[in-house]
Amino acid sequence: MDDSHFGVRNKRGDWAPNGRREVAPFWAWPPQLIKVLKWLPGYVWPWNAFHMTTALLWWFFVVPDVDTLQTLDWGWPALLLAANWVGCLIWYGAFEWRLYRQRAQGSRFKYHHKFPSESPSDVFWFKSQNLDNFLRSFLISIPLWTLVQVIFLWCWANGIGAWLTWDEHALWLTLLVLLSPALHEVHFYAIHRLIHTPTLYKWIHSIHHNSVNPSPISSLSMHPVEAFLYHAVALWHLVIPSNPVVAMFQLHAAGFGAVNGHIGFDRIELGGEQTMQSHAFLHHLHHKHFEVNFGGDGLVPLDLWLGTWHDGSKDGERQMQARYERKLARMNAGKAS
Ligand SMILES: [Zn+2]
Ligand SMILES: [Zn+2]
Repeated sequence: MDDSHFGVRNKRGDWAPNGRREVAPFWAWPPQLIKVLKWLPGYVWPWNAFHMTTALLWWFFVVPDVDTLQTLDWGWPALLLAANWVGCLIWYGAFEWRLYRQRAQGSRFKYHHKFPSESPSDVFWFKSQNLDNFLRSFLISIPLWTLVQVIFLWCWANGIGAWLTWDEHALWLTLLVLLSPALHEVHFYAIHRLIHTPTLYKWIHSIHHNSVNPSPISSLSMHPVEAFLYHAVALWHLVIPSNPVVAMFQLHAAGFGAVNGHIGFDRIELGGEQTMQSHAFLHHLHHKHFEVNFGGDGLVPLDLWLGTWHDGSKDGERQMQARYERKLARMNAGKAS
């Protein structure tokens, strides 16, 4: 497949998509109903539909009955951890295997000209980005994801929180499912801005940013504090009237959904002329430039409203540079006074 129809490759070999990324169309004024209707299927399919499917699979086949959940012991949390490990091994492993091991589509649609395995570095455990990212995900982040799961399931089983049933509140709970990705974006933006403050960045978030050229297995490579805060988005469902299935969807959209920002390819080739959008570009720009796109995909465009939006265009690049120069001038003025 010819990726030059969709974007441009620079002299270094880095590829970038044409055009500019846009925020979700329902923020437009005057309202653009047709655009919203066209956007909706892509909002649900395939990524959020996948997260709901896995949430239901966990709910029906992994989560034990309510009597078991009422008592904290090692048994059922260990079962959840095992399921989360297996789930991540399959999910993250599939993308990593196909795109980075088999290199099934070579460098077509790939943002960075190199593959992480070609750049050993001292910042990583065993000098290997892949091994470092894998170990941090499986030994730190997935156990903390499981801890969040254990907290809300135990609370639900013991009647702590404003839990609702689907029989009586199907409409609200369906709406809450649709709003959950927006909640994720606001939560992620808030904690992400927080851990970009200088002290916390050095202590916590620099670990995630060691992967300047991320791959799927970089998604959950985090310091324990970040890993807990990131997955703790599901704990909002202890405050909002909700249902554990919705909380599980929220958690899976964070845990499995992190792959979207870190695929490293703009599109995944599906065979023939068929491709699937990865939605990775905005977060890839964050890994590249650090000070832009702290949120997600522009579902709730906090970056746009707060002046850190980089839409991937030349214009976005210029605005980022201008902001950077203003910041530098402020810092120099501060030093001089
Ligand atoms: Zn990232
Ligand atoms: Zn960051």
